[in-house]
Order: sequence, then C-alpha cells, then structure tokens
Amino acid sequence: MNNHCGLCGKELTSIDMMLGENKLSEGNIICNSCLEKASVLNEELLSDLHRFSLKDIESLLQNGEIVQRETIQENISENIPAVADSERRVLSKDLYKKRLKEIKKQLESLRANLSLFTKGEIKELPYILDPDEVILAITDAQFTKTTDAGILLTTPKRMISVSKAMFSPAKVNEFLNEDILEVSFVKNFVSPNIRIHTKDKMFEFESFFNKDYAEDFYQFISKIYNREDVSEASSAEQDVISESVLEQLEKLGKLRENGILTEEEFTLQKKKLLEKL
Ligand SMILES: [Zn+2]
Repeated sequence: MNNHCGLCGKELTSIDMMLGENKLSEGNIICNSCLEKASVLNEELLSDLHRFSLKDIESLLQNGEIVQRETIQENISENIPAVADSERRVLSKDLYKKRLKEIKKQLESLRANLSLFTKGEIKELPYILDPDEVILAITDAQFTKTTDAGILLTTPKRMISVSKAMFSPAKVNEFLNEDILEVSFVKNFVSPNIRIHTKDKMFEFESFFNKDYAEDFYQFISKIYNREDVSEASSAEQDVISESVLEQLEKLGKLRENGILTEEEFTLQKKKLLEKL
C-alpha cells in the first residue's frame, strides 16, 4: 500500500483518506493540500481526479495548465503492453468451427453492434477464449493512437482486447478481474475512451465506431469493476435507513414517556429497530 502523497511525499493522514483516497489514474494518491492547490487551477480535479495522472497534476502546478500532448504521448508508449499470444489454443478444424459458431451465437444474442472491420478479431476468439468462457459484453475498441481496429470484451473472469491487422498475427491482451482496480470512461465527441486501471498501469482504448454503443459497454463493465461506486451507493442507502431508525426511536421514546408503551414494549421495539442498523 502506498501511504505517501505522490506529489509532495508527505505521509497521508486519515483526513486525507476520509472522503476516499485522492487517487490518480495510475494509482498514485495525493494529499488534501496538494489536491487543494491543484484544484484551484482546475476544478475538474475535484470531481474527476481519477482521470488525471501525476504528470498532469505536476504539469498543472508548474505551468498553470495541463500540457495534454506530453501526457498522451507518454501514455501511449507505456500503455501498450507486450503482445501476449502465448496462450493461443490449439484446435482441430471441427472444434474451431463449432466454437466459432457458438461465439457468433453469443454475439447475436448480445446484439453486438460491431463494425465490419472486426471480423478478423472475431475469428481469433475460438483460439483465445476458454471452451466454456462466455462473452458478457463487447465493443469496437483499439488502443489509443494506434491504427489497428480491434475489439474489447468482457467475460466472467477477464477483459480481453484483440486487434488484428491484415496479414499479421492478432495482438491479444488480457486483464484478469483480480488485476482490474477500476474502469473509467472519457466522453469525447469523436471517440470516447474506455480506460482500464490496474495496480500499476492504465490502459486506454478509443472507440470510433459507435459512441453510444461504447458507452453502453462501459456502463456494463462499470457495474462489474467499479465496486467503489457500489459501496458508495449502499452506504448512502444505509444512511437513509439509519436516519429513519433514529426518527422511529425518538417516536418510541415519546410513546414511552406518555405511558402509551410499557418499558418492556419499548425495549423490544428498540431492539427490533436497532437490528436494522
Ligand atoms: Zn501532498
């Protein structure tokens, strides 16, 4: 666990963590006072900190603005992982055909809205997916600033990106569920970006083919991978419950004071209510 501010190096305090960590896109955490300094220059930091990198914040503090160019350039070289096609399955012709048929059926039932350019990638899937691995969602997506078309998909155990240029082997990257910390989405007029955040890296994809479909895809994976959102929602729910329990306790107290409830009745009701907390 990193417990020092990525910017000033100071040890993070419980106050820095109180409203959730000030986490950046590549996983660095910064302290409240650094966040405050930077957010004076760019308010977006307060709502969308996880979309900014340490480099962005440094650039912001030094130049008063984020020198986007530099950041993007650096991301590209860092973000494209090594080609990993060692896991390519060996299949007999018949098995391949059978599997491809199954996969195409899955895509049909998902109403997958993919461009024609992804045909080559789809044909690779029988070699990549486990025999019983089901596609939960899929979209056109390619690593940012690359020219290859590609697909990004999610299954119960991982996300996979595949891109295949004509006459060359497919580039396959997998992101295991346990390695994915979070996913995020950057709206963009031309092509929104889908980001996969792992412990030490951020991988960025862009989706030119269909903005809305890409966003639907993101909404789907967000439910799987952004557990923070889930716990935030449920803690908000919990707050509502706590509040109403307190209100009811107050009412019970009054009923007892007025002699409407006996001490025993009051105690029982109180116990029941406190169960809900
Ligand atoms: Zn700091």
